Amino acid sequence: MDSDAVDSLDPSSASPLLPGWAAPRWFERVLQALAGRDPRRAIRLVQWVTASGVYLGCFLLMAIGVADGWMDLPRLAGWTTFVVLSTAVSYAALRSGWSERFSDPALTEWQIVMGVIAADWGYLICGPLRTIALLPLLVIFLFAAFALRWRQIAILTVFALASLGLVVFWLTAFPPPWRDSPAAATLPIDQLNYIVVLVVLPALAVIAARLSALRRALRTRREELTQLLAEVQRLATTDELTGLPNRRWMTERLRQEQQRADGEDTTFCVAIVDLDHFKRINDRLGHAEGDAALVAFSRRARSVLPARDVLARWGGEEFLLLMPAVEIEEATIRMEYLRQSILRIMVDGRPLTFSAGVAQHVPGQDVLDDLRTADQRMYSAKQSGRDRVLNA
Ligand code: GH3
Ligand code: MG
Ligand code: MG
Repeated sequence: MDSDAVDSLDPSSASPLLPGWAAPRWFERVLQALAGRDPRRAIRLVQWVTASGVYLGCFLLMAIGVADGWMDLPRLAGWTTFVVLSTAVSYAALRSGWSERFSDPALTEWQIVMGVIAADWGYLICGPLRTIALLPLLVIFLFAAFALRWRQIAILTVFALASLGLVVFWLTAFPPPWRDSPAAATLPIDQLNYIVVLVVLPALAVIAARLSALRRALRTRREELTQLLAEVQRLATTDELTGLPNRRWMTERLRQEQQRADGEDTTFCVAIVDLDHFKRINDRLGHAEGDAALVAFSRRARSVLPARDVLARWGGEEFLLLMPAVEIEEATIRMEYLRQSILRIMVDGRPLTFSAGVAQHVPGQDVLDDLRTADQRMYSAKQSGRDRVLNA
């Protein structure tokens, strides 16, 4: 996973340079001074800044060592030259954008390899305090979590273990004079350990903050996707003009009702409703007025029908009504009431009318056959003069 991609996911960032971080101002300023205004470069430089902070801490510790006598200047100078050169190369590559040609533009692997070498080198030269040279290794290895695959992490782990093994072997086989310096007996170990923790802990905190920003970005993303999915579902199941369920959704709903009725030994009714002379409305008043009539019908129907009944736009000026747990007599009364209510909608100076066919579910029969029955009755209603409900 490209860590840059995930980090730039969170659009609702309070901080322009580190999206989702809520980092302290001073940290942002340091980064901005180092990285410029490009947020992706800033994110990459977070690793660099963290590593540099740890190296600086190690340097200070060894400088104390020079003063205390357990470290000498040439050893410190060699290590410092290596670290300064390698971090300078990293910085130049990250800051200039040159690193962007690689699959990991944060140069994570390179920085980890340099960190391992710095730690090995530190272990070699720090004499009695060499254990502290290992701590930065832990910090630097955590960078891998943001950009590398397990195979790369495994290779780096083998490299770190093998190189440190070699250093330990060297120290044992050819012990340099400083390995067990007599100054060790008087070292202020506790104070020095505390300095190490002082360096390592803030670095770990930066990495933890980065993980937390990633988690936040992912959560935001997940919420966005959930909302989008809900919207897609709504769009796929709703008729845009009337807001009623569409044919796709209703077909599914009818299947459920059929299974429920057959399973629980209850019944239901369906009614097909077709507005009368709708073409005439369109022709006389225009398509927009026709649309308005469809919306007016839907609203009125929804407001007079029981909440349990399901009204869907079946297509064009045709609607389908599902009346669960209702027998045909009750369904017919309900449809008759609907017909009367719709008559109060005036279109082009005439009451809006419809013709409808009602059918009760035949147990065990496919619901589509129930619909066919209702459809035939609706056509009979048309043929016998419109503006009526037929149930036989
Ligand atoms: P009948 O009484 O026999 O049902 O006559 P009708 O004119 O209603 O039936 P016909 O099937 O001849 O015409 C239906 C018309 O409904 C034709 C079509 O343009 C119109 N229509 C279908 N969908 C829409 C829509 O979404 N908006 C509008 N404005 N008109 C629509
Ligand atoms: Mg029609
Ligand atoms: Mg019609």
